Amino acid sequence: MATYDDVMVSLGLEPSSEPGVCGTYRGYARHHYYGEDPCAACRKANSAYKRDRARAAKKQDLPPIKHGTARGARRHWYRNEKPCDACRIAYNAEMCPRWRTYDRDRRRRPGRAA
Ligand SMILES: [Zn+2]
Ligand SMILES: [Zn+2]
Repeated sequence: MATYDDVMVSLGLEPSSEPGVCGTYRGYARHHYYGEDPCAACRKANSAYKRDRARAAKKQDLPPIKHGTARGARRHWYRNEKPCDACRIAYNAEMCPRWRTYDRDRRRRPGRAA
């Protein structure tokens, strides 16, 4: 026989001796535990909870970052990460084309022709 805590854990909740209050996901779990039909408030809380979980799962499911690209740098930021060096350099190169122009001009300019 599963304990109340077992049910809570199996539903992704912290085990607790506190009974769920109606209108919360924990309340929904309580109905579930007692084999009751969840009330409207708990059903609503459950769907909100499921939606949040789905959203969180979706975020983890993002496509892999293509490192060393400006797009990759944006992906790092999108995930609240600091871009890795490869992405940061690629991003800077794309965002500051003037830096590259400056480098090229400097290289093209022969020092002895002044
Ligand atoms: Zn309820
Ligand atoms: Zn990266």
